[in-house]
Amino acid sequence: MLFERPNDDTLYDALIARSADYEGQAYVCVKTTGIFCRLTCPARKPKRENTIFFETIAACIHSGFRPCQRCRPLEQPGREPIVDELLAQLDSEPQMRWTEDELVRRGYDPSTVRRAFKRALGMTFHDIARYRRLGEAARQLAHGARAIDAQLDAGYESPSGFRAAFQRLVGKAPALSQNRELLFADWFDTPLGPMVAVADKTHLHLLEFHDRKALPAELEALQRRLRSSVAIGRTPAIDQIEAEIGDYFQGRLTVFKTPLALGGTPFEKHVWAKLIEIPVGQTRAYGDLAREMERPEVVRAVGRANGANQLAVIVPCHRILGADGSLTGYGGGLWRKQWLLRHEEKISVPKMERTA
Ligand SMILES: [Zn+2]
Repeated sequence: MLFERPNDDTLYDALIARSADYEGQAYVCVKTTGIFCRLTCPARKPKRENTIFFETIAACIHSGFRPCQRCRPLEQPGREPIVDELLAQLDSEPQMRWTEDELVRRGYDPSTVRRAFKRALGMTFHDIARYRRLGEAARQLAHGARAIDAQLDAGYESPSGFRAAFQRLVGKAPALSQNRELLFADWFDTPLGPMVAVADKTHLHLLEFHDRKALPAELEALQRRLRSSVAIGRTPAIDQIEAEIGDYFQGRLTVFKTPLALGGTPFEKHVWAKLIEIPVGQTRAYGDLAREMERPEVVRAVGRANGANQLAVIVPCHRILGADGSLTGYGGGLWRKQWLLRHEEKISVPKMERTA
């Protein structure tokens, strides 16, 4: 009832038939090539298990996929020429650092560019350039390479590149003299784009989608609170959550077992525990949670605790909807929330059939 989009099987059939029925309403991302297409694309069709469908171009790009050179999904009739011009320049100069100064140097007014891209694609030109670089590097990681090697192989030594972005995110080199236990951070890829995991030797402290706006602040707060530093690297907790998240996205797992380090106040921990109790395939409103806690007066505080969650997917704050059933907000972006809820609706079906 929340979503009107046809299910993935219908979209896959349309893809094979090169049907124009969903033109402009759905796009297919191909995991093996990192490309996204219109369903009508004349190119050879991907296998079912390698496809992901999104409603918007922005969602495809957010997930690190590049537009196909054959069906050119970014080209839409009636679009302002400035959009196509800049997209063509982005394609031909993938290593360019697209600052506002660079745009001005090429004779563009940055605010005109921003407005034209927002109108045409729902995201800015800078976002597109950034996600494309991150997506490239993330794909390398997904193919099993170690983080640092992949970053080097992908040629992202440039200050604008992935390596620098990740290092900036993770912070300065570890201050080993502090003699405290270090935290480690690494990336892994998911169908919704790369996730960043931070763990000590045994417990997971943070799991977020790479582009969450609050992520840099969360990392800083975590280091301050634990008086520790975060270094790039892996611990068994990161390996475990990567495997579990992989199984979750494949529909094979709904209960996470990776040991969690929950760093909130007692109230926040209470709310997060309540969130974890919401079964896959179900949703709640803040008010429901407050009532279940037998404190109906604290609806706002429940909302804040929900927002303070930094274990995306595992502590399922995406299962909270507005009182009217609307999607409301999500730190990882509404399109991800929509995707997760749809996915969970799907993977919870066998359980309902068993009890029926
Ligand atoms: Zn195509």
